Amino acid sequence: MGSVWVIVEQIDSKVIPVSLQLIGHATKLAAELETPIEAVLLGNQIEDQVQVLFAAGADRVYIGDAPKLAYYQPELYSEIIHKLARERLPEIILVGSTYMGRELAPLIAAKLETGLTAHCIDLKVDENKNLEQIIPAYGGVISILCPEKRPQMATIAKGVFPDPPLDGTRTGDVVHLDVLEDLPLRVQTLEIVREEPKGVTFESALIVVAGGAGAGNLDGWNEIADLADLFNAALGSTRPAVDEGWADLETMIGQSGKMVSPDLYIGIGLSGELQHMVGIVGAKVMVAVNIDPKSPVFEQVDYGIVEDCREFIPILIEKLKFTWKRG
Ligand SMILES: Cc1cc2nc3c(=O)[nH]c(=O)nc-3n(C[C@H](O)[C@H](O)[C@H](O)COP(=O)(O)OP(=O)(O)OC[C@H]3O[C@@H](n4cnc5c(N)ncnc54)[C@H](O)[C@@H]3O)c2cc1C
Repeated sequence: MGSVWVIVEQIDSKVIPVSLQLIGHATKLAAELETPIEAVLLGNQIEDQVQVLFAAGADRVYIGDAPKLAYYQPELYSEIIHKLARERLPEIILVGSTYMGRELAPLIAAKLETGLTAHCIDLKVDENKNLEQIIPAYGGVISILCPEKRPQMATIAKGVFPDPPLDGTRTGDVVHLDVLEDLPLRVQTLEIVREEPKGVTFESALIVVAGGAGAGNLDGWNEIADLADLFNAALGSTRPAVDEGWADLETMIGQSGKMVSPDLYIGIGLSGELQHMVGIVGAKVMVAVNIDPKSPVFEQVDYGIVEDCREFIPILIEKLKFTWKRG
């Protein structure tokens, strides 16, 4: 039985939380498969991060540490990892569903000629020791198996699994990798320029106001955005709101978007499809506004308001402004 691998991502030479969360969950899978956990870490000046990976549960760390690897380089990273996988034959490879992971995982899967399940919301080992890769689909959840090919590969978003407890006394093996200095690269990342986040971020927000297709048009969307502003809330969206061009992809909540856990979530004009709702399982109190009293969203929230949002939101904004001015 091969090991369970986690492809670790670093930003500014620091391991990011989703990688530790994956190692934490990998400890459960590895225990059932009776196999070790191995982390693959590429970057520059990252030697000090190895201990964090051991503390989270890794038994061995493959490390490629070189200036060339400071930023994610698709061709170089995928070549190093796929070459290593061909040598070491892991049973499972887990990758964070980040901008890097969403590109890197399919590149590696294609080179290894194996399957990949994107945006899993859970991972288990079945009775035949196959990895059950669980995703929302067909109005429920389904398990995807990859019984014939190895490794079994999956991407998982930040927040799907909790931060693992860190045990600073753990240690393990460190294996230094060949950085493939001579590999000709057609694409290279030379610099990363970070965009300043606009408005209230999901990370800092106590309240998230999310809008969906029911907004109807950009004017309707702007009313939802005004309500979010008034609450000092982060503005979230569903897939159709992004597809319509009302909202940035960055604001999409759900299986292929962000996971949020605010004190209060208010979903407006959205139907409660599982692909969206998996992104808010951590919310403490949930409210939905929907014109359709039979909308499935009402079965999933704490408080439901049956209203046309185009009429209700402007009135709510006026009332809140009036009340808060007086108060
Ligand atoms: C692999 C995969 C991954 C996906 N990942 C995501 C994801 O990460 N995030 C995501 O959001 N989606 C995702 N989706 C899409 C998801 O399946 C749904 O299609 C989407 O969430 C539906 O968005 P919605 O609720 O805004 O639209 P709809 O399902 O069309 O619902 C619109 C709702 O608005 C209500 N409404 C209409 N008019 C009004 C009004 N005037 N006032 C009030 N209510 C009104 C309607 O009653 C309806 O309930 C994914 C799909 C797939 C296949």
